[in-house]
Amino acid sequence: MGLEAAMPADSFMTTQINRLINWARRSSVWPMPFATACCGIELMSTASSRYDLARFGAEVMRFSPRQSDLLIVAGRIAVKMLPVLQRIYLQMCEPKWVISMGACASTGGVFDTYAVVQGVDQFLPVDVYVPGCPPRPEMLLEGIMAIQRIIDSENIPYDGEGRRLPLQVAMEPNYEPRPQPAEVSIGAT
Ligand code: SF4
Repeated sequence: MGLEAAMPADSFMTTQINRLINWARRSSVWPMPFATACCGIELMSTASSRYDLARFGAEVMRFSPRQSDLLIVAGRIAVKMLPVLQRIYLQMCEPKWVISMGACASTGGVFDTYAVVQGVDQFLPVDVYVPGCPPRPEMLLEGIMAIQRIIDSENIPYDGEGRRLPLQVAMEPNYEPRPQPAEVSIGAT
């Protein structure tokens, strides 16, 4: 990994076991994608070669909750799907984290109807909200890096009864909207 080249052959390094464990955890985050709609396409794109989620050690998506520790909810969640999502969350190993990706997962988005969950944080402890409709892959990468910082700082809050408390970190959009390339006007025909 380059470290052995930087250090003399007979030297050694000291650290704390917690730091070592957190370093290993954050370098091998295992996402569990729950992608139901268009946000899922951006999630797939994040794992593709252009954005290369593998650079963050988080490219392994095997739809296997028992091995996963990062649930990414991407897209709208119908009320009928909710028990499945909750079961998947419960099957995942501890410690685990949750990203709510996109407007629909976080708020229901434009689907203000009785059939769509108006924010998964009502039912799951969401740690990071990734904004957008859909969020760009860069934005999801920001969200995953935020999870890595949380793991590094070992910031996993529990209430008095051992229940996981959500961290609820909201990512800021990281782009400046540009002006329209041509003036847009509505004229009489
Ligand atoms: S937030 Fe936008 S892109 Fe994502 S699932 Fe909803 S409608 Fe689709």
